This record gives sequence, C-alpha cells and structure tokens, in this order.
Amino acid sequence: MAVPKKRHSKTRRDKRRSHLALRPSRPTLCSHCKQPTIAHRVCANCGYYAGVEVKPPEE
Ligand SMILES: [Zn+2]
Repeated sequence: MAVPKKRHSKTRRDKRRSHLALRPSRPTLCSHCKQPTIAHRVCANCGYYAGVEVKPPEE
C-alpha cells in the first residue's frame, strides 16, 4: 500500500474537506394532503406514496 512521504498541511487538509459538508434535506409537499413530507418516503400524515395509499394513517 502506498504510504505518504510527507504530512500535508492543515490548509491542504481543510481545502480537501471544503467539499465534504452535507446539506440539510428540504421538505417537499405531499401530493395528496399537501403537508410537508420527506421526499421519496411514504407520507407520515396520510400514508400515501406516488398517488396510492400504502399505509393507513395512525389514529
Ligand atoms: Zn400526505
């Protein structure tokens, strides 16, 4: 395995990591009940996904 010969500077390390930050996921509106939901997930409010009821809502 390749072994680094010299240690990289903190500036070089931090420049590399400047692209690594994660962005918070933005809520989308449910197409059925118009409540804010997580995209590509079954709606927690009405239990619909892609226009079909997958899971009945909890009481
Ligand atoms: Zn919904």
